[in-house]
Amino acid sequence: MLYPWTKPGWDQLMNRRRAGRMPHALLITGLPGVGKLDLARSLVDGLLCQQAQPDGQACGQCKTCQLGTAETHPDAFTVTLAVDKKQIGIDQIRELGAQLALSSQLSGYRTAIIYPAAAMTHAAANSLLKTLEEPGPDSILILVTAEPARLPATVRSRCQLVHIPAPEPGLAQQWLREQGIEQPELVLSLAQGAPIKAVELASSDLLTTRQGLFEEFALLIKGKLSPIKLAAGWQKKDDRTLLTLLDSWLCDMVRLKFQQNPPNISNMDFQQDLQSLSGLIQSRTLFQHLDRVRQALSWQEFPLNRDLLIEDVLIPMASA
Ligand SMILES: [Zn+2]
Repeated sequence: MLYPWTKPGWDQLMNRRRAGRMPHALLITGLPGVGKLDLARSLVDGLLCQQAQPDGQACGQCKTCQLGTAETHPDAFTVTLAVDKKQIGIDQIRELGAQLALSSQLSGYRTAIIYPAAAMTHAAANSLLKTLEEPGPDSILILVTAEPARLPATVRSRCQLVHIPAPEPGLAQQWLREQGIEQPELVLSLAQGAPIKAVELASSDLLTTRQGLFEEFALLIKGKLSPIKLAAGWQKKDDRTLLTLLDSWLCDMVRLKFQQNPPNISNMDFQQDLQSLSGLIQSRTLFQHLDRVRQALSWQEFPLNRDLLIEDVLIPMASA
Protein backbone atom coordinates (compact mmCIF):
# COMPACT_ATOMS: atom_id res chain seq x y z
CA MET A 1 0.00 0.00 0.00
CA LEU A 2 1.21 3.48 -0.85
CA TYR A 3 0.52 6.51 1.32
CA PRO A 4 0.65 10.17 0.32
CA TRP A 5 4.03 10.50 2.04
CA THR A 6 5.55 7.31 0.57
CA LYS A 7 4.45 8.16 -2.98
CA PRO A 8 7.41 10.54 -3.72
CA GLY A 9 9.89 7.77 -2.81
CA TRP A 10 7.86 5.38 -4.98
CA ASP A 11 7.86 7.73 -7.97
CA GLN A 12 11.63 8.15 -7.76
CA LEU A 13 12.11 4.40 -7.83
CA MET A 14 9.71 3.99 -10.74
CA ASN A 15 11.58 6.67 -12.69
CA ARG A 16 14.75 4.66 -12.20
CA ARG A 17 12.95 1.50 -13.24
CA ARG A 18 11.65 3.11 -16.44
CA ALA A 19 15.18 4.34 -17.18
CA GLY A 20 16.44 0.76 -16.77
CA ARG A 21 18.41 1.73 -13.68
CA MET A 22 16.47 -0.15 -11.00
CA PRO A 23 18.96 -0.75 -8.14
CA HIS A 24 19.67 -4.38 -7.18
CA ALA A 25 19.57 -3.52 -3.50
CA LEU A 26 17.52 -0.97 -1.60
CA LEU A 27 17.71 0.13 2.00
CA ILE A 28 14.36 1.56 3.13
CA THR A 29 14.67 3.60 6.32
CA GLY A 30 12.46 5.86 8.42
CA LEU A 31 10.74 6.06 11.81
CA PRO A 32 9.00 2.96 13.17
CA GLY A 33 5.43 3.07 11.86
CA VAL A 34 6.03 5.39 8.92
CA GLY A 35 5.17 2.72 6.33
CA LYS A 36 8.54 1.27 5.29
CA LEU A 37 7.37 -2.32 5.04
CA ASP A 38 4.23 -1.31 3.13
CA LEU A 39 6.42 0.46 0.59
CA ALA A 40 8.67 -2.60 0.28
CA ARG A 41 5.67 -4.87 -0.26
CA SER A 42 4.13 -2.55 -2.85
CA LEU A 43 7.43 -2.54 -4.65
CA VAL A 44 7.59 -6.33 -4.74
CA ASP A 45 3.98 -6.52 -5.96
CA GLY A 46 4.62 -3.88 -8.63
CA LEU A 47 7.82 -5.54 -9.87
CA LEU A 48 6.23 -8.98 -10.11
CA CYS A 49 2.88 -7.89 -11.59
CA GLN A 50 2.37 -8.85 -15.23
CA GLN A 51 0.20 -5.85 -16.10
CA ALA A 52 1.26 -3.08 -13.74
CA GLN A 53 -0.57 0.23 -13.77
CA PRO A 54 1.01 3.30 -15.42
CA ASP A 55 2.48 4.48 -12.10
CA GLY A 56 4.08 1.09 -11.54
CA GLN A 57 1.65 -0.22 -8.93
CA ALA A 58 0.44 -3.80 -9.17
CA CYS A 59 -2.91 -4.49 -10.88
CA GLY A 60 -4.06 -6.81 -8.11
CA GLN A 61 -5.80 -9.06 -10.65
CA CYS A 62 -3.24 -10.97 -12.71
CA LYS A 63 -1.91 -14.43 -11.92
CA THR A 64 1.25 -13.18 -10.19
CA CYS A 65 -0.73 -10.67 -8.14
CA GLN A 66 -2.97 -13.51 -6.96
CA LEU A 67 0.10 -15.53 -6.00
CA GLY A 68 1.43 -12.48 -4.19
CA THR A 69 -1.81 -12.02 -2.24
CA ALA A 70 -1.67 -15.67 -1.21
CA GLU A 71 2.02 -15.21 -0.31
CA THR A 72 2.86 -18.17 -2.52
CA HIS A 73 4.78 -16.42 -5.29
CA PRO A 74 7.81 -18.62 -6.02
CA ASP A 75 10.05 -15.61 -6.76
CA ALA A 76 9.16 -13.48 -3.74
CA PHE A 77 11.13 -14.19 -0.59
CA THR A 78 10.85 -12.68 2.86
CA VAL A 79 13.38 -13.03 5.64
CA THR A 80 12.36 -11.91 9.10
CA LEU A 81 12.63 -12.85 12.76
CA ALA A 82 11.55 -16.39 13.51
CA VAL A 83 9.11 -16.76 16.39
CA ASP A 84 10.94 -16.27 19.72
CA LYS A 85 14.14 -15.17 17.97
CA LYS A 86 15.73 -11.78 18.46
CA GLN A 87 18.08 -11.97 15.52
CA ILE A 88 18.11 -12.98 11.88
CA GLY A 89 20.69 -15.76 11.63
CA ILE A 90 23.27 -16.66 9.02
CA ASP A 91 21.36 -19.80 8.01
CA GLN A 92 18.39 -17.68 6.96
CA ILE A 93 20.59 -15.44 4.81
CA ARG A 94 22.46 -18.40 3.30
CA GLU A 95 19.18 -20.03 2.36
CA LEU A 96 18.03 -16.79 0.76
CA GLY A 97 21.29 -16.54 -1.18
CA ALA A 98 20.80 -20.08 -2.50
CA GLN A 99 17.21 -19.33 -3.54
CA LEU A 100 18.17 -16.12 -5.31
CA ALA A 101 20.95 -17.93 -7.17
CA LEU A 102 18.37 -20.11 -8.93
CA SER A 103 16.67 -18.69 -11.97
CA SER A 104 13.26 -17.10 -11.77
CA GLN A 105 10.32 -19.50 -11.73
CA LEU A 106 8.08 -17.15 -13.67
CA SER A 107 10.75 -15.45 -15.79
CA GLY A 108 10.56 -12.07 -14.11
CA TYR A 109 12.18 -10.41 -11.12
CA ARG A 110 13.17 -12.33 -8.01
CA THR A 111 12.65 -10.25 -4.91
CA ALA A 112 13.61 -10.51 -1.27
CA ILE A 113 12.55 -8.37 1.66
CA ILE A 114 14.72 -8.51 4.79
CA TYR A 115 13.22 -6.91 7.89
CA PRO A 116 14.07 -5.72 10.43
CA ALA A 117 17.40 -5.72 8.60
CA ALA A 118 19.29 -4.40 11.64
CA ALA A 119 18.38 -7.64 13.44
CA MET A 120 20.81 -9.58 11.25
CA THR A 121 23.71 -11.05 13.21
CA HIS A 122 27.17 -9.92 12.16
CA ALA A 123 27.71 -13.26 10.46
CA ALA A 124 24.37 -12.98 8.65
CA ALA A 125 25.20 -9.48 7.40
CA ASN A 126 28.59 -10.72 6.19
CA SER A 127 26.93 -13.56 4.38
CA LEU A 128 24.50 -11.11 2.76
CA LEU A 129 27.48 -9.16 1.40
CA LYS A 130 28.22 -12.00 -1.03
CA THR A 131 24.69 -11.78 -2.43
CA LEU A 132 24.94 -7.99 -2.61
CA GLU A 133 28.25 -8.20 -4.45
CA GLU A 134 27.03 -10.70 -7.03
CA PRO A 135 23.31 -10.14 -7.43
CA GLY A 136 21.53 -12.29 -9.97
CA PRO A 137 20.52 -10.41 -13.16
CA ASP A 138 16.95 -9.76 -12.06
CA SER A 139 17.10 -10.08 -8.31
CA ILE A 140 16.19 -7.19 -6.06
CA LEU A 141 16.99 -7.14 -2.37
CA ILE A 142 15.03 -4.79 -0.15
CA LEU A 143 16.39 -4.18 3.34
CA VAL A 144 13.98 -2.49 5.74
CA THR A 145 15.01 -0.96 9.04
CA ALA A 146 14.43 1.99 11.37
CA GLU A 147 18.03 1.68 12.50
CA PRO A 148 20.34 1.74 9.47
CA ALA A 149 23.31 2.73 11.65
CA ARG A 150 23.25 -0.76 13.14
CA LEU A 151 24.04 -2.30 9.75
CA PRO A 152 27.67 -2.73 8.74
CA ALA A 153 28.86 0.13 6.49
CA THR A 154 29.82 -2.47 3.88
CA VAL A 155 26.18 -3.53 3.60
CA ARG A 156 24.80 0.03 3.63
CA SER A 157 27.17 1.20 0.94
CA ARG A 158 25.94 -1.49 -1.45
CA CYS A 159 22.32 -0.45 -1.16
CA GLN A 160 20.45 2.46 -2.67
CA LEU A 161 19.07 4.42 0.28
CA VAL A 162 15.34 5.19 0.25
CA HIS A 163 14.50 7.28 3.30
CA ILE A 164 10.85 7.86 4.12
CA PRO A 165 10.52 11.11 6.07
CA ALA A 166 7.69 11.53 8.56
CA PRO A 167 4.91 13.47 6.81
CA GLU A 168 4.21 17.07 7.68
CA PRO A 169 1.87 16.95 10.75
CA GLY A 170 -1.04 18.69 9.00
CA LEU A 171 -1.00 16.15 6.17
CA ALA A 172 -0.68 13.24 8.61
CA GLN A 173 -3.57 14.46 10.78
CA GLN A 174 -5.75 14.92 7.73
CA TRP A 175 -4.95 11.38 6.60
CA LEU A 176 -5.68 10.03 10.10
CA ARG A 177 -9.03 11.83 10.11
CA GLU A 178 -9.84 10.18 6.78
CA GLN A 179 -9.11 6.81 8.41
CA GLY A 180 -11.68 7.62 11.07
CA ILE A 181 -9.09 8.06 13.82
CA GLU A 182 -10.26 10.07 16.81
CA GLN A 183 -7.94 12.61 18.45
CA PRO A 184 -5.52 12.52 15.49
CA GLU A 185 -3.34 15.27 16.94
CA LEU A 186 -2.77 13.39 20.19
CA VAL A 187 -2.13 9.93 18.69
CA LEU A 188 0.17 11.38 16.05
CA SER A 189 2.30 13.15 18.62
CA LEU A 190 2.36 10.00 20.78
CA ALA A 191 3.54 8.12 17.69
CA GLN A 192 6.34 10.66 17.19
CA GLY A 193 4.82 11.71 13.89
CA ALA A 194 4.61 8.24 12.30
CA PRO A 195 1.05 7.80 10.95
CA ILE A 196 0.90 3.99 10.74
CA LYS A 197 2.14 3.81 14.31
CA ALA A 198 -0.57 6.34 15.20
CA VAL A 199 -3.25 4.08 13.70
CA GLU A 200 -1.81 1.20 15.70
CA LEU A 201 -1.90 3.23 18.91
CA ALA A 202 -5.44 4.42 18.22
CA SER A 203 -6.64 0.85 17.74
CA SER A 204 -4.96 -0.35 20.93
CA ASP A 205 -6.59 0.41 24.26
CA LEU A 206 -3.94 3.07 24.75
CA LEU A 207 -6.21 6.08 24.79
CA THR A 208 -8.59 4.54 27.30
CA THR A 209 -5.88 3.24 29.63
CA ARG A 210 -3.50 6.17 29.25
CA GLN A 211 -5.17 8.14 32.04
CA GLY A 212 -4.73 5.32 34.58
CA LEU A 213 -1.16 4.64 33.49
CA PHE A 214 -0.32 8.31 33.85
CA GLU A 215 -1.71 8.40 37.38
CA GLU A 216 0.54 5.46 38.30
CA PHE A 217 3.52 7.14 36.65
CA ALA A 218 2.86 10.25 38.76
CA LEU A 219 2.75 8.13 41.92
CA LEU A 220 6.03 6.48 40.91
CA ILE A 221 7.74 9.85 40.45
CA LYS A 222 6.38 11.04 43.80
CA GLY A 223 7.80 7.89 45.43
CA LYS A 224 4.35 6.68 46.43
CA LEU A 225 4.27 3.53 44.30
CA SER A 226 6.97 0.88 44.12
CA PRO A 227 8.36 0.20 40.63
CA ILE A 228 7.92 -3.55 41.17
CA LYS A 229 4.22 -3.10 41.94
CA LEU A 230 3.85 -0.75 39.02
CA ALA A 231 5.55 -3.19 36.64
CA ALA A 232 3.31 -6.00 37.89
CA GLY A 233 0.28 -3.88 37.09
CA TRP A 234 1.68 -3.07 33.66
CA GLN A 235 2.40 -6.74 32.95
CA LYS A 236 -0.27 -7.12 30.32
CA LYS A 237 0.59 -3.93 28.49
CA ASP A 238 2.75 -3.82 25.42
CA ASP A 239 6.22 -2.69 26.46
CA ARG A 240 6.78 -0.48 23.45
CA THR A 241 3.52 1.32 24.03
CA LEU A 242 4.51 1.88 27.66
CA LEU A 243 7.92 3.18 26.65
CA THR A 244 6.35 5.42 24.02
CA LEU A 245 4.13 6.89 26.72
CA LEU A 246 6.98 7.29 29.20
CA ASP A 247 9.03 8.98 26.49
CA SER A 248 6.26 11.43 25.67
CA TRP A 249 5.63 12.28 29.34
CA LEU A 250 9.31 12.81 30.10
CA CYS A 251 9.80 14.89 26.94
CA ASP A 252 6.92 17.10 27.93
CA MET A 253 8.36 17.44 31.44
CA VAL A 254 11.67 18.59 29.96
CA ARG A 255 9.85 21.13 27.79
CA LEU A 256 7.82 22.38 30.75
CA LYS A 257 10.94 22.67 32.89
CA PHE A 258 12.58 25.09 30.50
CA GLN A 259 9.67 27.05 29.07
CA GLN A 260 6.43 28.58 30.25
CA ASN A 261 3.64 27.25 28.03
CA PRO A 262 5.82 25.53 25.44
CA PRO A 263 4.07 25.23 22.07
CA ASN A 264 4.94 21.60 21.33
CA ILE A 265 3.44 19.66 24.25
CA SER A 266 2.38 16.13 23.22
CA ASN A 267 0.11 15.48 26.20
CA MET A 268 -1.89 18.68 26.15
CA ASP A 269 -4.50 17.20 28.48
CA PHE A 270 -1.92 16.42 31.20
CA GLN A 271 -0.06 19.71 30.99
CA GLN A 272 -0.76 20.90 34.56
CA ASP A 273 0.14 17.58 36.18
CA LEU A 274 3.28 17.24 34.07
CA GLN A 275 4.28 20.78 35.05
CA SER A 276 4.09 20.00 38.76
CA LEU A 277 5.83 16.63 38.32
CA SER A 278 8.69 18.27 36.46
CA GLY A 279 9.14 20.57 39.45
CA LEU A 280 9.94 17.50 41.59
CA ILE A 281 12.92 16.40 39.51
CA GLN A 282 16.23 18.11 38.83
CA SER A 283 16.95 18.75 35.17
CA ARG A 284 19.95 16.46 35.09
CA THR A 285 17.99 13.56 36.57
CA LEU A 286 15.14 14.19 34.17
CA PHE A 287 17.52 13.92 31.22
CA GLN A 288 18.93 10.71 32.70
CA HIS A 289 15.42 9.21 32.87
CA LEU A 290 14.78 10.24 29.30
CA ASP A 291 18.10 8.74 28.17
CA ARG A 292 17.20 5.40 29.73
CA VAL A 293 13.78 5.32 28.09
CA ARG A 294 15.29 6.30 24.74
CA GLN A 295 17.87 3.59 25.09
CA ALA A 296 15.20 1.00 25.80
CA LEU A 297 13.20 2.31 22.84
CA SER A 298 16.22 1.99 20.57
CA TRP A 299 16.00 -1.76 21.05
CA GLN A 300 12.49 -1.56 19.72
CA GLU A 301 13.06 -3.94 16.87
CA PHE A 302 13.68 -6.64 19.43
CA PRO A 303 11.37 -8.04 22.07
CA LEU A 304 12.16 -6.20 25.29
CA ASN A 305 13.33 -7.83 28.45
CA ARG A 306 10.77 -7.08 31.13
CA ASP A 307 13.28 -7.30 34.03
CA LEU A 308 15.59 -4.92 32.24
CA LEU A 309 12.74 -2.50 31.79
CA ILE A 310 12.07 -2.55 35.52
CA GLU A 311 15.71 -2.31 36.57
CA ASP A 312 16.94 0.15 33.98
CA VAL A 313 13.96 2.41 33.58
CA LEU A 314 11.43 2.23 36.39
CA ILE A 315 13.61 1.77 39.51
CA PRO A 316 15.80 4.83 38.79
CA MET A 317 12.64 6.89 38.29
CA ALA A 318 11.28 5.93 41.67
CA SER A 319 14.39 7.27 43.37
CA ALA A 320 14.30 10.66 41.72
ZN1 LIG B 1 -0.90 -7.86 -11.45
